Amino acid sequence: MKIAGSTSLEDLPRICPLISRQGNPQYGEAETHIVEVGSVRFGGERPVVVAGPCAVESREQTLAVAEGVMAAGADVLRGGAYKPRTSPHDFQGLGDEGLEILRLAREATGLPIVTEVMDTRLVGKVAEYADMLQVGSRNMQNYPLLKEVGHAGKPVLLKRGMAASLCEWLGAAEYIAAEGNYDIVLCERGIKAYPSGEYSRYVLDLNVIPAVKLHTFLPVIVDPSHATGVAVMVEPASRAALEFGSHGLIIEVADVSPSLPKPRCDAVQAIDAETLKRIVDFIDRRHKEFAEELHSAGRAACV
Ligand code: PEP
Ligand code: MN
Repeated sequence: MKIAGSTSLEDLPRICPLISRQGNPQYGEAETHIVEVGSVRFGGERPVVVAGPCAVESREQTLAVAEGVMAAGADVLRGGAYKPRTSPHDFQGLGDEGLEILRLAREATGLPIVTEVMDTRLVGKVAEYADMLQVGSRNMQNYPLLKEVGHAGKPVLLKRGMAASLCEWLGAAEYIAAEGNYDIVLCERGIKAYPSGEYSRYVLDLNVIPAVKLHTFLPVIVDPSHATGVAVMVEPASRAALEFGSHGLIIEVADVSPSLPKPRCDAVQAIDAETLKRIVDFIDRRHKEFAEELHSAGRAACV
């Protein structure tokens, strides 16, 4: 029985002729499209680390966290100026003031900035401040927004909808590519499944990483913070994501110094800069081992 609207991975070349490997064979079987954000390369040999607060809450908090994540070795600074909150009565982000604070944080650290845009009317403005535009899980299928970010002239971080299939997620990326922008980084951030909310916030779908790499040449990273919702799970989930072939991580970090108030947003999933440094060190060790293996394989081939 055929059901209207149902899709399977076999439909991908039709749904996504631009970003699927089958539709766009010039990328070969394993090649990745490198997405450059400043000097940072998503999809290159070394996994990229994006880190920062959930929300930009104040100048003092954002600069403290930004300095911490830079010292820990992160490549890109994250932080929401506009926050998608379940309740309209909760903190919605600082808006324009948050963008100005992000600009200061970039000046202070030299790190490029990724921040979420939720409203088509604000895409131009957010693009003036951000080095990369984030489309959040709740907006993955907001097609007018996808079109707008597609021609904003900035790389896009496209989070997976929390209940989206791989076809739907790649279909969303195709909307951005159809505007002429192939600089898209996909981000797995946990999906709704039977036990989600019981012992973790969502269920981290690591299995999707090799599937993404099989079907598209776009880089894919993992958000262990929203996927687990539990700070102690973030470090092991990060390592597991890298073992599954993730091209990077996006992690929420808080400054726990007593002079700063507790974060107003996602405090229980935030790790400290020290834990972030251990994750970056893990990446460095792995990357070094990988380079040495390649080097000795090259030498063996020459003998
Ligand atoms: C975020 O990264 O700030 C965020 C809100 O994540 P998500 O869209 O994945 O829930
Ligand atoms: Mn958050």
